[in-house]
Amino acid sequence: MAEAASGPGEINGHCLCGAVEITLRNPKPQVEVCQCAMCRRWGGAFYSALSGESFAITGDDSISTYRSSDWAERAFCKHCGSSLWYKFLPTGNRSFLAGLFSAADNYPVEREIFADEAAAWTELPGEHARLSSAETIAEAKDAGYDLG
Ligand SMILES: [Zn+2]
Ligand SMILES: [Zn+2]
Repeated sequence: MAEAASGPGEINGHCLCGAVEITLRNPKPQVEVCQCAMCRRWGGAFYSALSGESFAITGDDSISTYRSSDWAERAFCKHCGSSLWYKFLPTGNRSFLAGLFSAADNYPVEREIFADEAAAWTELPGEHARLSSAETIAEAKDAGYDLG
């Protein structure tokens, strides 16, 4: 790539050990939080999703993926175990763990999905939108995806 490593409109992130690096271009400066039980088991708390217009990833040899359901794949670093991304298979869309990107530390929460599955200790304060499991599944259905 000829572009500057971290010009305006792109942020860089990496896993705990640094083997995997991710560049996210034109990130949406908001974090979507998933409170579902699967995400909690996967990452230890809620999933913090950051997405952008496009991305570049280095360190492919260090990445493992896990097919967590009919519609999703989750990736992690083979060396340090950091969760990396969630890929929605019907669209191929990916979101990345906000925690990988220091530049995202001040991004506000856009909304929570599966909010009613939150553990007592993962509940978040604030006035953002909270979709229940039923509302989250209904929204996906409206968009043409059956997560049932
Ligand atoms: Zn790593
Ligand atoms: Zn989830």
